[in-house]
Amino acid sequence: MPRSFHGRLALVTGAGSGIGRATAQQIAAEGAALACTDIDLDAAQETASLIEAEGGVSRAFALDVTLEEQVAGTMDEAQQWSGLPLTVLVANAGVAGPVGDVSDLNAEAWDVLVNVNLSGPLYCAKHAVRRMRAAGGGAIVFTASHAAFANVPNWTPYAATKGGVVSLARGLAVDHAPDGIRVNCVCPGPIETPLLKGGWQQATDDPEHKARTRGRTGTPEELARVVAFLASDEAALVNGAALVADAGALAHMGTSW
Ligand code: NAD
Repeated sequence: MPRSFHGRLALVTGAGSGIGRATAQQIAAEGAALACTDIDLDAAQETASLIEAEGGVSRAFALDVTLEEQVAGTMDEAQQWSGLPLTVLVANAGVAGPVGDVSDLNAEAWDVLVNVNLSGPLYCAKHAVRRMRAAGGGAIVFTASHAAFANVPNWTPYAATKGGVVSLARGLAVDHAPDGIRVNCVCPGPIETPLLKGGWQQATDDPEHKARTRGRTGTPEELARVVAFLASDEAALVNGAALVADAGALAHMGTSW
């Protein structure tokens, strides 16, 4: 039997761009009813339109993951729209945040970073767990980063939020295994998206980094296939994992890029 998400409602956050868009398209192509959510409704709508043009089933929702009530309300709306319980969540929305020396860190910018990258996934997981438990199980995938495990110069605040996401996945995986809910995270290296161009490009253009990864940054589509695997029944044995998908960069990293 080929892998399938038929008969499942999947909700992806940050689905209006980059990794989230490609993931929404991948999981919809494998049969899920896809709730495309993003703080930017027009962008989410574009993704939903792409999915529909590819023969999939999708609807766009405006969702700012930092607003807990909106998270719960959007999940309810998505369930009503599809007539299905939410059993797949990809908590992907994230921002790069303040890049630079920590001695220059602006406290307000740090608050935004933590709210989007850590509180957002936590709120999404909280309300997904309630619905998945009632449905008899489900799968949650967080988009963390390989920066959770190594020093990426000037990205320490971002890395700290992603380390938090890894801990969140491990803890929730243990807490909710008895509910039939698996919780994992994918830890990408550089992926060609607007976020990368916003600050990381310089690091990935570095000749030493290129040598370590054979000049390879990933595409959103390649990463989406890893996320879809973690969300699928093929990964039934995978729980609490932080799956690094970075063309080998972390394995070569040592202490710095
Ligand atoms: P992107 O900028 O292309 O897409 C991020 C999306 O999230 C955008 O559509 C944006 O509107 C949305 N968003 C921002 N704030 C939001 C909020 N408060 N609520 C809901 N949506 C919001 O970025 P991307 O590269 O596709 O990043 C996706 C995830 O992957 C992020 O969590 C990022 O940290 C992670 N990541 C990216 C890379 C990379 O190299 N691109 C590497 C490792 C991890």
